[in-house]
Amino acid sequence: MYFSCTKCGICCGGAPGTVCFSAPERSAMAYALDLSETEFDLLYTWRKYGVLSLREKPNYDCVFLKMELGGARCGVYAARPAQCGSFPFWPDVMESRRSWDDFALSCPGMNNGIFHGYDEISEILNAYAMNIAAEIL
Ligand code: SF4
Ligand code: SF4
Repeated sequence: MYFSCTKCGICCGGAPGTVCFSAPERSAMAYALDLSETEFDLLYTWRKYGVLSLREKPNYDCVFLKMELGGARCGVYAARPAQCGSFPFWPDVMESRRSWDDFALSCPGMNNGIFHGYDEISEILNAYAMNIAAEIL
């Protein structure tokens, strides 16, 4: 599949959603922001749709999304959760050619840019599955 992120920021906001994370990912984000995990939870997380998630701004953008001249920027990029880093190689996107193309309607990076082969995508999907199992509910 072809994909290169254009930094449009669409997948990080604009509609209600959840960004879930594991305990190690919470520690990494808190550390990156020089906060304790308790402070991080109070400032940047909430429960939504029954799961612990990163907060959203009133316009539904992720609390860490910053739109700048050069494009979208993540305020915790180096420590962002695997849910973010693995997009668009999510199980429901990779289910079929049709699901891939449906998601591509809202992601200009899909069907463009760098080629990603079977082995690479399989590895991302396996890591995604392991991470889902480790997420804080
Ligand atoms: S929608 Fe696609 S191109 Fe835009 S920021 Fe997200 S991954 Fe990148
Ligand atoms: S944590 Fe960063 S990459 Fe993930 S949704 Fe928020 S802004 Fe986007």
